[in-house]
This record gives sequence, C-alpha cells and structure tokens, in this order.
Amino acid sequence: MDEETIRSTVAGMLDRAVKALPPDVRSALAECETDGDGIDAVQVRTIMENIRMGEEKGIPMCEDTGVPVFWLRYGKVPISLQDVVSAIKEGLVEAADRAPLRPNSVHPLTRLNHGDNFGHGLPLIHITPIESEQIEIWTLTKGHGSENMSALGMLAPAAGVKGIKEFVLETVVNAGGNPCPPLVLGVGIGGTADTAMALAKKALLRPIDTFNQDPSMAQLEADLRAGLRDIGVGPMGLGGSPTVIGVNVEHANCHPASLPVGVNVQCWADRWAKATFRMDGTVEVLGGDI
Ligand code: SF4
Repeated sequence: MDEETIRSTVAGMLDRAVKALPPDVRSALAECETDGDGIDAVQVRTIMENIRMGEEKGIPMCEDTGVPVFWLRYGKVPISLQDVVSAIKEGLVEAADRAPLRPNSVHPLTRLNHGDNFGHGLPLIHITPIESEQIEIWTLTKGHGSENMSALGMLAPAAGVKGIKEFVLETVVNAGGNPCPPLVLGVGIGGTADTAMALAKKALLRPIDTFNQDPSMAQLEADLRAGLRDIGVGPMGLGGSPTVIGVNVEHANCHPASLPVGVNVQCWADRWAKATFRMDGTVEVLGGDI
C-alpha cells in the first residue's frame, strides 16, 4: 500500500469507469434490449451499441466524461491521509490524458476553464474514517445533463412514504429527456438538507441489484423500482420503456419536524468504480471491464 499504487489504481479506475459500465448497470440495460421496432427499442439498441463500441475501441462511452467525484474510506493504514489525497489527485491527472477525460471544471461565474478537472473546490473527495486496516476509494464520473435534474424536497413529516414517492416521481417526470434516460436514481432520506443530497449521491455507489439492509428502506426501493420503470418518459425521453432501471435509497435519522428527501438523477452512463487497498498489498478493483 503506497502512493504509487494508489495513483496508478485511481488512474485505471477512472479509465475503466468512462469506457465500460459496471456489471450491474450493463446487465440492467442489456435486459431491456429487444429487436422491436418501437422508438424505445431503437434507443436502447443505440445506447447498447454505443457502450459496445466504447469498450471495443477503448474510448469513452459518452463525450461528457463528467465530474469525477471520489469517496475515500480511510482506515488504520501506514500511509498518511495527505499522501492518499495527493495520490488520488495525481491519478486524476494521469487519467485525464489516458482516458481521456474532458476538462470539465469551470469557475461558476466567469466560466473560465483552465483545461483540466481541477480548480477551486475540485476534485471533490468525501473522506470518512474507518476502523479496518484498509483504504477504499470509490469514484463516480458524474454527467451533468443528469446532475442538473437532481432535486431536494424538504417535505412535511406528515407527507410520509406517499409524499416521498410523489416527490421522486415528480422529479423524474419534470426531468423528461434531459438527463438521458434510462435512469438510475439515488434517493437520500433524512438528516439535514445537505445530508439528504449527499446520501442521494452516495446511494449511486451501491450496485442496483442490491437492497438497503433496513427492511422499510428496501421496501421503498422495491416500490420505486417497480413504479418508475414504465412511466412513459422512455429511453432518451422519446417515450416507451424503460424510464428508470435502478433506484437505491440511503437514509439518516432526522429532526422530528423534518423530512428531507434528496434525489440524485443519474443517466444511463452510470460510471462507478471501486478499489480496496489491503495491508497485504493486494488491491481489489470493481467496475466495468476493458
Ligand atoms: S447526461 Fe450522461 S449520457 Fe447524457 S450527455 Fe451527460 S454523461 Fe452523457
């Protein structure tokens, strides 16, 4: 476990993420592929063709390679947190050339782009201390056609599960074709306004073929997955099905007077990768295959 291993692994993760979808998302899309002649079937085939071409040619599956967001779970390890953060940043520099990554960092007011993915506040690295003797790094290269459609609802507690479902549905319907459906949704419930949105994004890191361990949240996931799949927005917003192929929910307890609900909208290019660095020197990387 050293800075060089982390740097090269992060570069590889980003390279994989933008060129090959992780198995859960790829399978969910592939299951929707048919030889039908409806516009929805044609759109799904086009998306799958795009994905296959990206993998075969080793090029990004979408010209928008997104904003790389990192989550670092830092355990009891013999490398400093500062060195790990430096290695992540160096890995991003390498991946920008290797993948390549589009320079997607601009000043929010002047829109000045320095030609890389760095700048004030970027790259985004969320850090959580953990007890185990390992480091875990996730990355999500977040497209912003979909990010722009994300929403926060500060609901009244009386709105309950019904209100949460209505807010998520309203968010997807209002988004229409803008976020490049079929969509994966991360839903964050509880905490504070900022926590709900952070949980919503973090929910996207969990494979979409898994369920929340809290039975009430797992039931909500099942209901939202079943209820939003065929609402008619359709692939690329052109009608038909599917509109949503995955919904993950994460939660935190909240104030008795509050029910924050964050919805992070993710396009079909749900590009996540994860690496675990262990004390014995092994590194396990999950994500797409290239
Ligand atoms: S929203 Fe996703 S699929 Fe659409 S252009 Fe952006 S990255 Fe590409």
